[in-house]
Amino acid sequence: MSKTQSIIGRYAPSPTGDLHLGNLRTAMLAWLKARLDGGKFLLRMEDLDQPRVVTGSADQILRDLEWLGLDWDGEVLYQSKRAQAYEEALALLDSAALVYPCFCSRKDIQTAISAPHSKAAVYPGICRDLGSESRQRKRVLKQPAFRVRVSDSLEHDVGDFVIKRADGLFAYQLAVVVDDLYQDVTQVVRGADLYDSLTRQQYLAHTLAPARPPIEYFHAPLMLGEDGVRLAKRDGADSIKCWRESGKTAEQLLAFLYNSLGLESVGEQISLVDLSQRLESQAWQGILFA
Ligand code: GLU
Repeated sequence: MSKTQSIIGRYAPSPTGDLHLGNLRTAMLAWLKARLDGGKFLLRMEDLDQPRVVTGSADQILRDLEWLGLDWDGEVLYQSKRAQAYEEALALLDSAALVYPCFCSRKDIQTAISAPHSKAAVYPGICRDLGSESRQRKRVLKQPAFRVRVSDSLEHDVGDFVIKRADGLFAYQLAVVVDDLYQDVTQVVRGADLYDSLTRQQYLAHTLAPARPPIEYFHAPLMLGEDGVRLAKRDGADSIKCWRESGKTAEQLLAFLYNSLGLESVGEQISLVDLSQRLESQAWQGILFA
């Protein structure tokens, strides 16, 4: 990235329940990286998947981040208000002949990929080259999803992926990229569970905005519970609410989150300002992987 380009980081939680401590640790790392790099830090609510959104969760997330001291620049962007932008991106891809309707059920795909030599989880292109007549015939029976065609070099490892679901919802993969581009994000720090999405998102970002410098992606290790299994939002015991209700302070939580990374301990409590100052050396960033 050129030195003249200003850094813009972001955190993009899904309001599908209270943040757990692992989500919060990722938010803390994203904030620290953006601020230590002298950049802005934006917040986006990924409330696109309305059936999974939990009422009140977005507001609770904002309160939790504020309580911890993670501030953000400008207004929070809500994906539920961005349908028009996603529609435009789909139209742009379509005008480049990169979109096609897909009528496959999960079972169709399963059957095709369980054939010898096919790679699991990669869409085998069943609907890629359907003629317009069969598309019309199939449309009478079924609403299609829409897939983007990937370049030949990605066909075998990534496969054409869904950007709009058959139920009309835009897929996370499209929305996240459209919004990162719209918000001029230059740097993403997020959980390692999203590492698998990286190639798809780089492909979409480059296709939608070829002249733009690539976004830098970093992935933070996932926090594991005592049982060694990664935390999920339903694990109430690991929610920040529980932590707060037990009378602990934000400084104690920050220290806990940071110490859980297994780096040099910062003691039992630390303020965000002190943490930022201690971390000015970039050594801690080694735990983030691209
Ligand atoms: N909304 C996603 C989540 O909460 C994060 C998306 C991203 O950071 O790219 O897991």
